[in-house]
Amino acid sequence: MSDSKLLRAGLVKLYKELTKRGMLVGSSGNVSARHGAGMLITPTGCDADTVTPAQIVAMGLDGRACGKIKPSSEWDLHASVYRQDETAQVIVHTHSDHATALACLNRALPAFHYNVCEFGGEDVRIAPYTTFGTPQLAVLAAEAIAGRRACLLANHGMIVHGDDIAHALSLAIRLEALSRQYLLALAAGAPRLLTRAEVDAAMARYGTYGQQTETTL
Ligand SMILES: [Zn+2]
Repeated sequence: MSDSKLLRAGLVKLYKELTKRGMLVGSSGNVSARHGAGMLITPTGCDADTVTPAQIVAMGLDGRACGKIKPSSEWDLHASVYRQDETAQVIVHTHSDHATALACLNRALPAFHYNVCEFGGEDVRIAPYTTFGTPQLAVLAAEAIAGRRACLLANHGMIVHGDDIAHALSLAIRLEALSRQYLLALAAGAPRLLTRAEVDAAMARYGTYGQQTETTL
């Protein structure tokens, strides 16, 4: 099987898995993978029950799409991350419940738990709100995710990028779980945040042991 065929099949599997886990409801999300100088991305209005590898859209990072099927309306959100960060290989964008709830409070996810450092810093930043599907959202998201694996999008959802499909899935699941845990802690009181030194120590551990725990599809 060619690279492109494998990636298309992998993206379909990823989209279905996110739906099965309740993290992607009614096509309110999209997934993509870097491919050559461009990317492969789920089509607009993607239906997890019926999507096939042939429906995955190949397009340039400048927005030029091949074929008749239209890409996700959020294609530029993905393209802007690939343009900015050459390590980004697979992107998941979802409106999963807890990450979105946190994003609707317009709050970043601080280092209330050491797992937050897995995303590359002392917090998971939040991009300010702007209209979905616009170049402006792509710019704001790229700024918020710079140097990190994830960011929240205010009043919208979240985005993560990983080294491959299993890694991106794992990061999306972890960000959703951490968002849930932070909301639970906030509801019960005022969570203690890690100190700078504690964050640095956790980051150093991730530097040594990072990416051992991928989710198998
Ligand atoms: Zn969205």
